Amino acid sequence: MIPSQQTYDADILIIGGGLAGLTASIHLAKAGLRVILLEKHAYPQHKVCGEYVSNEVLPYLSYLGIAVDELAPARIHRFLLSTVAGKTIESTLPLGGFGVSRYAFDHFLANNARLAGVDIRQAEVMNVQFETETFTLTTSDEKAYTSKLVIGAYGKRSHLDKQLKRIFFLQESPWLGVKAHYQADFPTDLVALHNFEGGYCGLSQVENGVVNACYLTNYRSFKAFKNISTFQQNVLGKNPFLSDFFAKATPLFDKPLTISQISFSRKKPVDNHILMCGDTAGLIHPLCGNGMAMAIHSAKLVSELIIHFFTGKIANRLLLETQYTHIWSTEFKSRLLTGRIAQSLLSSPGITSILLKSLQLTPRVLPLIIRQTHGKPLVVNA
Ligand SMILES: Cc1cc2nc3c(=O)[nH]c(=O)nc-3n(C[C@H](O)[C@H](O)[C@H](O)COP(=O)(O)OP(=O)(O)OC[C@H]3O[C@@H](n4cnc5c(N)ncnc54)[C@H](O)[C@@H]3O)c2cc1C
Repeated sequence: MIPSQQTYDADILIIGGGLAGLTASIHLAKAGLRVILLEKHAYPQHKVCGEYVSNEVLPYLSYLGIAVDELAPARIHRFLLSTVAGKTIESTLPLGGFGVSRYAFDHFLANNARLAGVDIRQAEVMNVQFETETFTLTTSDEKAYTSKLVIGAYGKRSHLDKQLKRIFFLQESPWLGVKAHYQADFPTDLVALHNFEGGYCGLSQVENGVVNACYLTNYRSFKAFKNISTFQQNVLGKNPFLSDFFAKATPLFDKPLTISQISFSRKKPVDNHILMCGDTAGLIHPLCGNGMAMAIHSAKLVSELIIHFFTGKIANRLLLETQYTHIWSTEFKSRLLTGRIAQSLLSSPGITSILLKSLQLTPRVLPLIIRQTHGKPLVVNA
């Protein structure tokens, strides 16, 4: 810390104000704890995301007083999968979900967090130190923040992962995500996943009838093309559904948003004593449509334990860290594994085609697979 630096203290510091960080901040502030959340970007902002949220989070959001209905989300109950050749299979979604843009959702949660008493500051955390049972974070605006506990909710990948020497950061990851909004004729109640060589593209509605097209692709497939539009024409366009969609849809963004180096490697839910939440603890393959629900669910798990820590039900840091690691793994390990298997099957158009034929013969299996990649509705032990 620089001697003249302004320092702020809190019970809990949260790094990152996406779904995980914001939800945890609301939960903890409502429990009477002093929470400072540090987010590097201003709200609202668009993010690369399929924007389909599983309904499993609704009981918990409602417990926190977050009324998602105010955003008028699309209500989604059907799932359609297509192969590159345009063969399809459809299923109802066992729990269903809602479609809402991250632009609206994160902003809405940030407003709810402020109302709950969370001190949200726009600053990038540059450095994290842990000494004598106290964390000190320093930010881009040269301020310092201290607390007993820190939640790491800074998403898939950050320079902080390098500073914390997290192993996944050293491994190259070939995945690229692309997303844009469109005005298009697309059913409100459907989420479609269209396969193409080297990836898949999700289509679904968000609020105001806008359609989100978001795809994940292997960088190897992408790099042979000069830009996104030629890639979409030549690779995504081989799937007749995507060809039709992109030919008729009107883009609402100047250009699509992209993110690279998306890693699905294993991460530790507690690292350097930081309680990791959302994608910072582990990212499920997007085709499962469950990353946002997992981010919100992990916020619930960590918040409940932190409250026990402050009320003395959890006696010390070691127990807090051990219990969080255990509960995180119990809740999410099998979904992450199913996601990895589904991803490896869908990454080959040939296998996807065989898979689709088998699923057509046994239609009850698809809802079962979907269930495996989702959780149950989040019961709240108030
Ligand atoms: C292509 C793609 C499609 C997807 N589609 C879906 C889908 O349809 N449904 C679904 O449920 N999930 C989907 N996901 C997953 C979902 O987007 C994530 O799981 C979810 O965003 C996780 O939320 P989070 O709060 O953990 O992270 P984020 O939403 O990424 O939030 C992290 C925040 O931390 C901030 N931050 C980062 N570093 C710092 C720092 N040093 N200091 C301060 N702030 C910092 C960032 O600005 C960001 O706001 C998809 C993912 C991808 C890649």
